[in-house]
Amino acid sequence: STQPAPLIIVGSGLAAYTLVREWRKQDPDTPLTLITADDGAGYSKPMLSNALGKGQSPDDLIQMPVDKVAEQYRARILTHTRVTHIDPTTQTLQLDKGEALSWGRLVLAVGAEPIQAPLEGDAVDRVMSINNRLDFQAFYERLSDRKKVVIMGAGLIGCEYANDLASAGYQVELVAPSESLLTGLVPEQVGQALKAELEALGVRFHLGPLVSRVDRGEADSLTVSLTNGQQLKADVVLSAVGLRAKVDLARAAGLEVNRAIKVDKYLQTSNPNIYALGDCAEVEGLVLQFVMPLMNAARSLAKTLAGERTPVHWPAMPITVKTPACPVIAYPPRGDGAWQIDGEGANLAAVCRQGDAVIGFALSGDRIKERNTWLKAVPPLLA
Ligand code: FAD
Repeated sequence: STQPAPLIIVGSGLAAYTLVREWRKQDPDTPLTLITADDGAGYSKPMLSNALGKGQSPDDLIQMPVDKVAEQYRARILTHTRVTHIDPTTQTLQLDKGEALSWGRLVLAVGAEPIQAPLEGDAVDRVMSINNRLDFQAFYERLSDRKKVVIMGAGLIGCEYANDLASAGYQVELVAPSESLLTGLVPEQVGQALKAELEALGVRFHLGPLVSRVDRGEADSLTVSLTNGQQLKADVVLSAVGLRAKVDLARAAGLEVNRAIKVDKYLQTSNPNIYALGDCAEVEGLVLQFVMPLMNAARSLAKTLAGERTPVHWPAMPITVKTPACPVIAYPPRGDGAWQIDGEGANLAAVCRQGDAVIGFALSGDRIKERNTWLKAVPPLLA
C-alpha cells in the first residue's frame, strides 16, 4: 500500500495544536509533520498576561513538552525551524536549515506578530513585546528584581499586563494615544471604569501622547520620552500596540491576502491544498485573533481534512479581558448602534442597539454575570 501524502502544519501555537488533537481523533494514520520557529512546548497563550500575579514562571506555563506532543499525536515536530518559502506548484516547502519537504496538504497556523511603533532613541532595541512563551521568558528575565515598567498601548494586552504587573508589586506607567482604555472593544465609560480600578491598584496613566523616544538613562535604566514633552524613567519598556497577521509566506506563495491570509468557510486559501487557521487567517472577511474562534475553526478543519467537508459556524463569542481589578466582557457591535449604559462605579452594563435589536454589549465589575443573557440576544459572528 502507498503512504498517503503527508499533512504539514506550520506553527505550534493553539491553532496548530488544537487542530492536531482534533484531526488525530479522526485520522490516526496519515503522516504528520509540524514545523515551528519556537520550541514547540504546548502552552495557553492567554496565561502569559496573568502569570506574574499568580507567581508563575515561564516554565510553569508549559502544559505539554514537545516530545510528549510528538508522541501523543504521532507527529514529527521540527522545532526552532523556520519555513522560508512555499511552492504550491511542486507542493514543497523550504526550511531555513536548507532542507525541502513535500506536502499533500498544508496548513498555515503561523499566527501574528507585534506591530513595532516607530520610535527614536539609542535604546529602541530594549523595547520588548510579548507574543509567545519565549518572549515572556525574556521579559521575565529582564524584570528580575527591577521595578519600573512603562507599557505602551491601552488595548487588551496592555491593560492585562498593567493589572498583572501592578498586582505583582511593579510600578507601572501606561502610555497610549487614546482618551480611554480598550477603545474599539468597549464604550468610553466602561474604559474609564477600568482605568479607575487600575489607578486604585497603583497604575499611572498618560493618555493622549505617544512614546517618541527610548534612550539609555543612568546606570541600567531607560528614559522614555512622550510627545507631550514629558519624560518617564523605566527599567523595562513593554510595547503592546497591536498585532498584525503574518502574511509574508502566503503572499510570496501567490495566495490571496488581505488583512490576513484569505480563507473561505472551509479555511481554504485561494489554493485548494493550502489552509490557514488562527491569528494568521481572515475567514470570510473576519480577523478574530482570539482563542474561542480558532478552537471552533480547528474542529471544523479537522473534519474537513479527514474527508467530511465542514464549514465554520461562529456563534456570538465574547471577549474576556483578564483584568481582575475590574473584569470586562465585551461583544463589540459590528455596524452603528446606540449605547445605553446602566450601573455605577466599576459595575456597568452597556448595551448597544440598532432599532430594537441588540448588536453588542460590554459588561464590567459584578455586571459580568449578565454575560449569558446578552450573549443570547446578539447576532452570531458567522452564521
Ligand atoms: P501563535 O500562538 O502565534 O502561533 C504561531 C506559530 O507559528 C508559532 O509556533 C510560531 O513559532 C510559528 N511560526 C510563525 N512563522 C513561522 C515560520 N515561518 N516557520 C515556522 N514556524 C513559524 N485570546 C483570548 O481569546 N483570550 C485571552 O485572554 C487572550 N489573552 C492573550 C494574552 C496575550 C499576552 C496575548 C499575546 C494574546 C492573547 N490572546 C487571548 C490571543 C490568543 O492567545 C491568540 O489568538 C492565539 O494564541 C493565537 O494562536 P495561533 O496558534 O494562531 O498563533
